[in-house]
Amino acid sequence: MSDCIFCKIANGAFNTEFVYENDKVAVFKDINPVAPVHLLVVPKIHVESLRELDDKELMGELLSAVNISCKKLNITDYRTVINTGKGAGQEVFHLHIHVISGRPLNWPPG
Ligand code: 5GP
Ligand code: ZN
Repeated sequence: MSDCIFCKIANGAFNTEFVYENDKVAVFKDINPVAPVHLLVVPKIHVESLRELDDKELMGELLSAVNISCKKLNITDYRTVINTGKGAGQEVFHLHIHVISGRPLNWPPG
């Protein structure tokens, strides 16, 4: 397994509790939540960012995991964010979709 923290988490290295998982993706809580609900949806294989993802089936799996996780948690209103590249705020270079909910979310974001 690589040195990537999300590769490790998603593949069970730390016995992290998953909100949802299947053979392709895992969903777990962000360690530093910006809202009462803050999930991370990640592929189990290492993909550095959305730029490197060209697998349409995996793209679908990731969005499907967002949907399933929110239904499981009875969340109807939420924001999904993918930071791609340092300049956009990406700090962990393993693709992840943030799912944020549980407080008023302004738009446009500040
Ligand atoms: P980025 O800025 O790359 O879009 O978001 C990275 C996110 O990963 C941040 O919200 C940060 O709190 C979260 N994060 C970083 N390290 C860990 C970790 O070890 N475990 C979990 N659950 N979240 C992490
Ligand atoms: Zn990785």
